[in-house]
Amino acid sequence: MKCHVCGSELERTVTSLPFKTGEDSVVIVKNLPVAQCGNCREYLIEDVVMARVESILDRIGPAAELEVVRYAA
Ligand SMILES: [Zn+2]
Repeated sequence: MKCHVCGSELERTVTSLPFKTGEDSVVIVKNLPVAQCGNCREYLIEDVVMARVESILDRIGPAAELEVVRYAA
């Protein structure tokens, strides 16, 4: 898999990323598996991982202002 920005090879890694669930609500997902570019730090989230993240966000809902969860496959 190659970076869509600079064309370098992407590496699999885990990171923490914030996702907005509403106007003022953010969910931080820790331990998230992503493919990250070693050159420009651009990252890509696979569809299967994104689907899982969406189900986590659905479960939390837009009520929480800030929630930190751990991604578990
Ligand atoms: Zn890149």
